Amino acid sequence: MFEKFSIRNKLIISIIIGCLIPYLIGCLYVKNKTEEWLYNNYIENTNLSLRQTATHVDEAILKNMSNLVSMIAMDERVINVDFTVNSYIDYNASTFKFNTSKSEKEIMDYFRTIKDSHSIINMISFGTEQGSYVEYPAFKPEGSYDPRTREWYINAINKKDTVISEPYITKMSKDMVISFSRSVILKGKKIGVISLTIKLDDLMKDINGIKYGESGYINILSSNNVFINSPLNKAWILHSVEDLKLNVLSSIDNYNGKSFEGKINASDKVFNVYFSPYSGWKYVSVIDKSEVLKQSKVLTSLLIVIYLIMFLVMLVVISLISNHITRPIFKITQAINKMATFNFDMYKNRNFEIYTNYNDEIGEISRSLNTMQENFVELKSKIEVMDKEIQNINIEESSLYQLELSEDSPFVGIASSINGLLQKVHNSIEQIRFYNSEISHKNELLEASKEELIVQLEEIDSQNEYIRFIAEHDSLTNLPNRRKFYEKLSDVLANNRAGAVILLDLDNFKSINDTLGHLFGDKVLQYISGKLEEISNFKIFVSRFGGDEFLLLYEGENDVNEIIKFIKQLLVLSNKRFLIDQNEVEIEFSIGISLFPRDSMNIDQLIMNADLALYSIKNSGKNNFAFFNNEMLKHLKFKLDTKNILRKAIENNGFKMVYQPQVDIKSGEIIGYEALVRLKDHKEISPGEFIAVSEEDGTIVTIGRIVTKMVIEQMHKWQQMGFGLKPIAINFSAMQILDYSYKSYLLDLLKSNSISTGLIVIEITETTFLENKEVAIEFLKELRSYGIKIAIDDFGTGYSSLSYLTFLPIDTIKLDRTLSIKFLELENIAVMDSLIALAHSLNMKVIAEGIEEYEQVRRLIVGKCDAIQGYYFSRPLEVEEVERNYGMIYKI
Ligand code: C2E
Ligand code: MG
Ligand code: MG
Repeated sequence: MFEKFSIRNKLIISIIIGCLIPYLIGCLYVKNKTEEWLYNNYIENTNLSLRQTATHVDEAILKNMSNLVSMIAMDERVINVDFTVNSYIDYNASTFKFNTSKSEKEIMDYFRTIKDSHSIINMISFGTEQGSYVEYPAFKPEGSYDPRTREWYINAINKKDTVISEPYITKMSKDMVISFSRSVILKGKKIGVISLTIKLDDLMKDINGIKYGESGYINILSSNNVFINSPLNKAWILHSVEDLKLNVLSSIDNYNGKSFEGKINASDKVFNVYFSPYSGWKYVSVIDKSEVLKQSKVLTSLLIVIYLIMFLVMLVVISLISNHITRPIFKITQAINKMATFNFDMYKNRNFEIYTNYNDEIGEISRSLNTMQENFVELKSKIEVMDKEIQNINIEESSLYQLELSEDSPFVGIASSINGLLQKVHNSIEQIRFYNSEISHKNELLEASKEELIVQLEEIDSQNEYIRFIAEHDSLTNLPNRRKFYEKLSDVLANNRAGAVILLDLDNFKSINDTLGHLFGDKVLQYISGKLEEISNFKIFVSRFGGDEFLLLYEGENDVNEIIKFIKQLLVLSNKRFLIDQNEVEIEFSIGISLFPRDSMNIDQLIMNADLALYSIKNSGKNNFAFFNNEMLKHLKFKLDTKNILRKAIENNGFKMVYQPQVDIKSGEIIGYEALVRLKDHKEISPGEFIAVSEEDGTIVTIGRIVTKMVIEQMHKWQQMGFGLKPIAINFSAMQILDYSYKSYLLDLLKSNSISTGLIVIEITETTFLENKEVAIEFLKELRSYGIKIAIDDFGTGYSSLSYLTFLPIDTIKLDRTLSIKFLELENIAVMDSLIALAHSLNMKVIAEGIEEYEQVRRLIVGKCDAIQGYYFSRPLEVEEVERNYGMIYKI
């Protein structure tokens, strides 16, 4: 009901802050002041009582006793004491005889009367200057006794006034006493001392009867701070504050007439101090502090109770007042809240009706609210009337509708605005009707173009499909292209499936193209594509990789035997002859295979692997297949390294030549040498290996020239040295045919080194004629026309065909080592003989290569071979060795 920050709460809080807190502070102040006053009052009273006690002791006892002693000292009987009085100076219990003289008797009687009339007196004694001694009650000596040596005597003899002693214990009765002593003077001469003792117990009996509250008592200390009285600690009596180490009392001298606080036995005490001006004694009252404060505590509790009662009464009063003020406000707020939610039938509330009769602001607000409510009710009913009218408006009707209200209605203004609005709405509806008919007409048009658009979109779709097809297919064969293959393979690899990448390359496609033309070549490719598609199935994906290469994906297979089965199926195609355009063609192909995931999971790597495998097949006879293995990679690396080494050797003069003698079979004479190239710094790479590599990348052309130059310059040196030159054979690779200016290069070198052309033999192999037979023959013929000799090397390997010999421009046939080994076996010997005979008949010389054993030499002699180049006679020789062996004749 009441919010946290309602006026009522605020009012209560303000009154609490405004009245109760100052009241609380006032109470606290009064309490503190009262406590302080009570405490001080208590102390003051105690001090006063202490002073009275001291005065009483001084007046009633000490002064009295002093006067009494003075009186005794001046008494006739005392002053006139004579020598008859007993002396105990030489006292001996067995011999001593007490004699009662008249004088002593008189003194004793006098003392008795005094003691009898003063109960507090313990003893009266009189010592003379001669050492005689009288004491009442009667003296009972235990040994010799000289009064003149006693303290009471010594202290008083030289003084005129009474001397009050410090408390002490008597020698005889062991009582704790103080003495009052005074010298006795006769005619100005000191004749002795009178002493009167009183027991402390007796003296203090009254004082100890004085109590302050329940715990308070009085201690008395002498001027030297020795305890004379200590009701609670009797043992302290006769001891000084210093001896007892009572620190709490050590600065007592500063507090005469004042009070201070301290601790005794860990309990808080309040001390009041008063010094007697007469005796110098220090009266110290000791009271428990809690007792001093007891009264103030009672008062404090009383104050708190009063405060609480007041607080509650005030709270009730405050609450009543605030209720009286805020209740009407709350009710009025409720009414206004209802109005705010358009609830005007709010109150027939009795309370509220009462407020309208108030003569204050509340009454005024209530009356205004009343009027406002009545106005609102009326307004509401009028609005309802108008609302009904507006609801009845039908704007759909083509005629214009207008509100009609009486002149005195409060809504005349609004009604005319609404009428204006209705006019505008009517106009807009008319316009919309017009637009509607237009839109439906345009919609019809749109519908027609939509259909047209759909037709066009369909066309675009089919064109897109076609573009996609073109992007993914090869235009010649309609096979998926390389891009599609990559996509397919990457999907397969992403799904972690096994399989094989198969690269298929046609072996003899170049010659088909060369011989039957490119158009026919295209038809061959289309035909093969068709065949490949025929054998493909859901596991096999065929694509054209480019040129005469096809890339196949064998998916989901990791059994090598299954893959080999499929490859063999492919190779069956390879052995058939096909009829294309009335031409019968035999198509062969080689296949390289790389497996995944075994070989790699990378697309490029897999294709490269398949390519390497294909390459290995191409190099070893073609028309077969090979699986990729790591040796191939090693071989590739070897080739790359070798290429690098060759490049450096070309730049840095890294080659040298060795020369192998060719020995005449009849005479044993050297008839010539073959120049063989070596890598100076890489003996581990044989010429067989690096020449093959250089043939692959074409550097053989450069190396060929370097070799030619080195050989001719060497010949020049030997010529200079006076050696009769022998013909030297230079090896010439098939690819060097492409070095068109080689001939002039060779001739220029020969000329500039003055070497005769007849001393040079060019060794070629049959492969030189394979690619471009006519050009090769033409080239050789030209060389020959300059007198240069031609030898056919490695005869018997490769495509050796005897028919070649008949039309090739050749001077020498070099039988290959394998051929020599094969033909020199018995059953083939006749073939060998007839081969040599044929060569001779064509005017050619025959050199057998690679001859290592005597038996071979012997047989070649029988077969009439012309010369031998082989380890049997000599390995290839370094330049120095050639020079050393020059002109040597080998023993046959
Ligand atoms: P090639 O032209 O047939 O050279 C003969 C090869 O047979 C030489 O090998 C030679 O050392 C070796 N040989 C000679 N007698 C015997 C024998 O009794 N037993 C055996 N096992 N081998 C024998 P080399 O020097 O290793 O050369 C290998 C091939 O490298 C050469 O075969 C030639 O084709 C090529 N080659 C060497 N030097 C050159 C060159 O300067 N240019 C060109 N284009 N090729 C060269
Ligand atoms: Mg050779
Ligand atoms: Mg050879």
